[in-house]
Order: sequence, then C-alpha cells, then structure tokens
Amino acid sequence: NHFGQHNLKDIIQDVFSLMEIQANKNHIYLKKNEHSPDVFVHGDEAQLKQVLINLVKNAIEASEPNHNVEIQLCQDCINGYIKVTDYGAGIPNHQLKNIGKSFYTTKKEGTGLGLMVSYRIIEHHQGQIKVNSKSENGTTFTICLPKVREKE
Ligand code: ADP
Ligand code: MG
Repeated sequence: NHFGQHNLKDIIQDVFSLMEIQANKNHIYLKKNEHSPDVFVHGDEAQLKQVLINLVKNAIEASEPNHNVEIQLCQDCINGYIKVTDYGAGIPNHQLKNIGKSFYTTKKEGTGLGLMVSYRIIEHHQGQIKVNSKSENGTTFTICLPKVREKE
C-alpha cells in the first residue's frame, strides 16, 4: 500500500484547486476556511483525495447556481474532520439508508459508485463518513479520520 503521513490541510488545498474550476463552470462558489489547522493523518494520499473529490463533486451536482459549497477542516484531540456542505435539495429521510450502497443513484447519468468507494476507503483508514441532511436544507458529509499520535 501507499500509506504515509499527510496533512489534511494540504489534501484540501489540492482538491480545492482542482474542483474550483468545475464549481465555477456550474456557477457554484467553492469555499474553505482560511485558517485551517494542520491535521496529520496516516493514509494513502491519492485515495483520500479521491474521497474528497467524490464528496465535493456530489455537493456541486446537488447545488443550484449561485450557491456555496464549503469545505471545512477541524479537529478534536483524537480525530480530524473534513466537512463538505452544500445548500441543495438534501437527501430525503427514506433515501438516507441507500446512501453508500453500490449502484444507488438518483442521477440520470450517475454510477452510484462514488459514495460506495468513498465509504470503503475511509473504513480502510479506520475512519467514518457521516451524513447530515435535511430535505430542502442541504447536506453535510463529514469525513472523520484518526489523527497521527505525536510521539512521546
Ligand atoms: P452518483 O453521484 O453517481 O449518483 P454517488 O455514490 O456519488 O453516485 O451518490 C449516490 C446518490 O446519493 C446520488 O445519486 C444522490 O441521490 C445522493 N447524494 C449524494 N450526495 C448528495 C448530496 N450532496 N446532496 C443530495 N444527494 C446526494
Ligand atoms: Mg457522485
């Protein structure tokens, strides 16, 4: 495998630059917090970027023009948290249970694979993906990853 130590702040910066172009084409404003902390996790950089790309892509696709999509980084003493928030239509309660199942899609040309792959990758990193969605009020996906413990 390609596991190493990575700063989530750098991963977010790279994905931000990449996805800003796609967001702007759709007239969506991609935002991130200006003063992110440094949060080091153990993982595969390409896979972690792929997860974040998948979530940001879904958030853009769920958004109407002239709305924000926000990427936030925060932490507590154990975990780092990346939150991807959109102000789109949200996920109705009865559909929440299908999120992350393979081939579950509500899009005309969707594959229904992005979230399934993302859940697997994060599981493989001893982390979790949580979703908080209110119909009409948008959606927040939170990636939670254990931080690298500082050596004593
Ligand atoms: P795809 O994007 O190809 O449909 P995904 O696995 O990425 O596949 O997402 C599966 C489904 O989950 C989507 O079709 C959509 O119904 C729902 N979904 C995912 N993210 C969001 C979001 N941010 N807002 C609303 N629905 C979402
Ligand atoms: Mg998708």
